Amino acid sequence: MVGARPNFVKAAPVMRALRGRAEQMLVHTGQHYDAAMSRALFGDLGLPRPDLDLQVGSGTASMQTGRILLRLDSLFPCYQPEACVVYGDVTSTLAAALSAVQHGVPVAHVEAGLRSYDRTMPEERNRILTDHVANWLFTPSQDANDNLAREGVDSGRVHLVGNVMIDSLSRLLPRTDTAAALRRLAVPADARYVLVTLHRPSTVDDGAMLQSVLGVLTEMSSRWPVVFPVHPRTRARLEAVGGTAAGLRLTEPLGYLDFLSLEKGAGVVVTDSGGVQEETTWLGVPCLTVREATERPVT
Ligand code: UDP
Repeated sequence: MVGARPNFVKAAPVMRALRGRAEQMLVHTGQHYDAAMSRALFGDLGLPRPDLDLQVGSGTASMQTGRILLRLDSLFPCYQPEACVVYGDVTSTLAAALSAVQHGVPVAHVEAGLRSYDRTMPEERNRILTDHVANWLFTPSQDANDNLAREGVDSGRVHLVGNVMIDSLSRLLPRTDTAAALRRLAVPADARYVLVTLHRPSTVDDGAMLQSVLGVLTEMSSRWPVVFPVHPRTRARLEAVGGTAAGLRLTEPLGYLDFLSLEKGAGVVVTDSGGVQEETTWLGVPCLTVREATERPVT
């Protein structure tokens, strides 16, 4: 079950590993539906076309959760899977896990156990709730096992398997081409540059916070080109606050290979993404995390 951009990056290696060992069905909830956030990544990651698309579309997390629950209510009895695999911490993760549990389908949670200890983050609530209904908890790192132990989760359900997002990264890194990705954005190939991603509600929903971050990025852009692939949520907020982004190189969200190409070559990455904190750590690229707390202590 997948629904949003970071899910695709995590599902790809798991589906490859299961190929030939289990009959698999890929269900896309449609939480991220625009081409740049969804279809563009499927090709790069070698994910098959979804067998089913629930087309939940945009709306609040409650609206999306409600639609996913309703649509899965008829699908689980129809297909009767032996397990439902959910990834990460997005709205679709929790909604699919809840529905599976209600239908007696065992749940495997990939990327279980991460905690920022900040319950104002929707993702933190999704992680906690999903972990406590899942049957199998596949963790990326020892800190996740420690968090689950602190919450009293039976260690027999917890399996430390490593970071599947990094499995995608290491498989596809040889196919990246930083110079070509920079050329497409008209940034000189020898430039040191800043790469930015911002989409968390805590950064972009508060107009004053967003303006203040934009101010810092604009200041940075007087020294280095600042490349900023803009998440749809952020694009909408920028328009709402009339935020000025002169000097920044704003683009649509990038495909996975183009983004990885830029991440690999960046002088510094500025982000509030969870996955990007891990990827930059693996790549050895300095990462400035625009958040009060992180569930990725590795950064
Ligand atoms: N990513 C991408 N294109 C972009 C920005 C990010 O392919 O324009 C990838 C990035 O390499 C990482 C994933 O998307 O693998 C992270 O997703 P996101 O930041 O949306 O979610 P989070 O990790 O914060 O849950």
